[in-house]
Amino acid sequence: MARVYYDKDADLKHLRGKTVAILGFGSQGHAHALNLRDSGANVIIGLYPGSKSIPVAKKLGFKVFDNTEATRRADVIMFTIPDMVQQYVYDKQVKRSLAKGKTLAFAHGLNIHFKLIKPPKNVDVIMIAPKGPGHTVRSQYLTGRGVPTLIAIQQNSSGSAKKTALAYAKGIGGTRAGVFETTFKEETETDLFGEQAVLCGGATALIQAGYETLVEAGYAPEMAYFECLHELKLIVDLINESGISGMRFSISETAKYGDVTRGPRVINKRVKGEMKKILKEIQTGKFTREWVREYQGGRKNYFRLLKAGENHRIETVGKKLRALMPWMKKKNKSIKGVQAAYQA
Ligand code: NDP
Ligand code: MG
Repeated sequence: MARVYYDKDADLKHLRGKTVAILGFGSQGHAHALNLRDSGANVIIGLYPGSKSIPVAKKLGFKVFDNTEATRRADVIMFTIPDMVQQYVYDKQVKRSLAKGKTLAFAHGLNIHFKLIKPPKNVDVIMIAPKGPGHTVRSQYLTGRGVPTLIAIQQNSSGSAKKTALAYAKGIGGTRAGVFETTFKEETETDLFGEQAVLCGGATALIQAGYETLVEAGYAPEMAYFECLHELKLIVDLINESGISGMRFSISETAKYGDVTRGPRVINKRVKGEMKKILKEIQTGKFTREWVREYQGGRKNYFRLLKAGENHRIETVGKKLRALMPWMKKKNKSIKGVQAAYQA
């Protein structure tokens, strides 16, 4: 297994006397900025004129500049702006302020790995990618904990890129939970695959298909909602705590028999074949090219499909049922920011 780095393996002195520019102040950006500042780093914010994040960052006491000026003033420049905006910001605003010895930092490897951004050789290029939503990165830090974090080094022009990455990871609380070293290629491809095939795409399609099957067979939508959506969290929590076998320890024998005999019929060879195709599309850059084209063409298909998801019957019945569960309602409110982070 890869080496894991903790607090003792990282030294904040590698950020001392340096300025960190956080470009963007959204889910990840606000968390990195606040945590790094609380860890003693000198942090400034880069945003575009008219951004709704400007008053938020200023109110929290940060100095805000445009991306070009923030880059000029900084030693480390972190790209916590949307992936599809990064190439434009780099080419038109950041590049001209770059100088030998500066460090470009990313929270996801897509733009570097697929060469949308091509940095000059005389800068360091590093990744610090918390494996959790930005709002968790902040809330965990405040309670003295952290979120497991990946680091990667793409260019080590200064010879100390890894020390910088570890110091940054420590500054946002990552080394409290454990920091794993990976590569831009591995982080980018596994991150995209996970969100497409399992975490976001796979899970939502599985929930919807199960729900539709029950409702189309004449069962009450409320029952279908509980069975296919609500209970999923309870099962996933058990898997998260103690693995698949650990989860099976807690369910009935009947559930276990159904699980091991029927599960592989749902997620069968054909489904796995499709997963392999999806992975190929990621590895060859086909997915990224498609997403760039979609983004630049105004995201019509993207918005259409999101709308269709919002109009699915499971959303209407879900809203009604969650309103009847007072404890859920309260929780939903308090995780509003987290939900916003996932939508981003
Ligand atoms: P968000 O959408 O939450 O935030 C984006 C921020 O960038 C906003 O403050 C936005 O301003 C600002 N912004 C948009 N355009 C520009 C621009 N041209 N110049 C400067 N700022 C701009 O992004 P995320 O935090 O979700 O994602 C940032 C990066 O982190 C991505 O690379 C993503 O893959 C990665 N990541 C995200 C995770 C997450 O939890 N969401 C997890 C791990 C990695 P405004 O408020 O005005 O829109
Ligand atoms: Mg991702």
